[in-house]
Amino acid sequence: MSNAFMNTYHKLPVTFAKGEGSFVYDKEGKKYLDFTSGIAVNLLGHNYAPLVKAISEQAAKYIHTCNYFNSDVTAAFAEKLVQACAPAGMKKVFLANSGAEANEGACKLARKYSLLKHGEGRHTIVTLNGSFHGRTITTLAATGQEKFHKDFGPFTEGFIHIQGGDNDALDKALNEKTVAGLLIEAVQGESGIVPQSEEFISAAAKICAQRDILLIFDEIQCGMGRTGTFLALEQYNVKADIVTLAKGIAGGIPAGAVLAGEKTAEVFSIGDHGSTFGGNPVAAAAGLVVLETVNNQDFLKENKRKGEIILAALKKHPKVKEARGRGLMTGFDIESDSWAFLEAGIARADKAKNKQGLLMLSSGANTVRLLPPYCITDAEIEQGLEILSELLG
Ligand code: PLP
Repeated sequence: MSNAFMNTYHKLPVTFAKGEGSFVYDKEGKKYLDFTSGIAVNLLGHNYAPLVKAISEQAAKYIHTCNYFNSDVTAAFAEKLVQACAPAGMKKVFLANSGAEANEGACKLARKYSLLKHGEGRHTIVTLNGSFHGRTITTLAATGQEKFHKDFGPFTEGFIHIQGGDNDALDKALNEKTVAGLLIEAVQGESGIVPQSEEFISAAAKICAQRDILLIFDEIQCGMGRTGTFLALEQYNVKADIVTLAKGIAGGIPAGAVLAGEKTAEVFSIGDHGSTFGGNPVAAAAGLVVLETVNNQDFLKENKRKGEIILAALKKHPKVKEARGRGLMTGFDIESDSWAFLEAGIARADKAKNKQGLLMLSSGANTVRLLPPYCITDAEIEQGLEILSELLG
C-alpha cells in the first residue's frame, strides 16, 4: 500500500494483478470471486473481450476531441443511451464523467426549467433520508445522510430531505411555490440497499405531475440493468423528467449522463453547461458495447433471475437478520461490523489450499452489499453463497 494517497478510503488488504470474468487475482496469484463489480461498475466482468477490443480500437483512432467538434462514436453512444432510456420518457442526453457530475447537471437543469417556467424562488430540490448523490458540495447537500456533511459546510442551499415511504411528508414537502424537483433513487445503494415502495413512487409521480415539480431519478447505482430492467424506475410504472446514470455506463471507463425528458430536453442553451471529458470517445466506445449487451430483454431477465437466487438464499440463512434487494443488487444485515466481514472474505483466499476469497462491499453500518457482475454464472453464484455461509458461521 502506498503512502502517497490522502487518507480518504478504508482500504482492504489486497492488491489486484488481473481479472477474468467474475474473478480477480491478487499479486500473489490468490483468487477472489468478485461480488462487487467495482461498486456497480464492471457490469460485464473483467477482461470482457469485446469491451477490451472496442476500447483499444478507439484509443488507436483518437482518444479525445473536445466537445466543439463532432465524434461519430460519441454520437452513436448518445443515441443508443437515449433509446435505452426512452421507456422512462427520455429524449436527450448530456454526457459527463461521474455520478456526482451527472447529479450536479440534473440539479442545474431542474432549476433552470423551474426558473423559466415559474420564475424566481422556486429552486428547492427534495431528496430522501439515506440517499447518496455524490461528494461535491452540491451533491453532498442533496445527500440525505448527516455523516457525510460533517466538517464540510456551508453547502449549496435549497435542498431538503424527507423520509422515503412517508406519503404525508412527501405531500407537505412538495410545495409548488418553492420546489423545483424531487430527486430519488428507486433502490438506495449506500444506506443498506433500500428499495422504495410502489405506493411511495406512484404518489411521488402523481404529485410531481400535478404541481409541475420535476421527478428526477438517480439511477447511478441501480440503473444499467442491475435490478432486472434497464432502469430500476421501470419496475414502478412511472416516467421520469430527468434520469442520471454513471458507474457501469461504460463498463469501467469513467462516464456519466444526464438524460432529459419532454419538459427538460430543450432547457439548456449553448454555454449553459459543459464538461471537458464528457462524451470522451474511448468511454463512448466502451459504453456502446455495454448498451448493446445489456439493453436486451433476455439479458435483463437473467439479471432478475440470478438476483432472486441470491436474495432467496440470503433470506433463508439463519444468521442473516434481514436481506433486501432487486436483481443483482442485494444487501443483508449482520450483527457484527460489516468491514470485518469484508476482510474475512479476503482473508479466506489461500492459493496453496486452492481456496477462493469473496469480494463484497459494505453499505451503511451493518449491511453487506453484493453487486456481482452480470456475467456471473449459476455455478459461481453457488460458490459465492457457499463462501458466504461459511463466513456467516
Ligand atoms: N448517486 C448514487 C446513487 C451513487 O451510488 C453514487 C456513488 O456511489 C453517486 C451518485 C456518485 O457517483 P460518483 O462516485 O461517480 O461521483
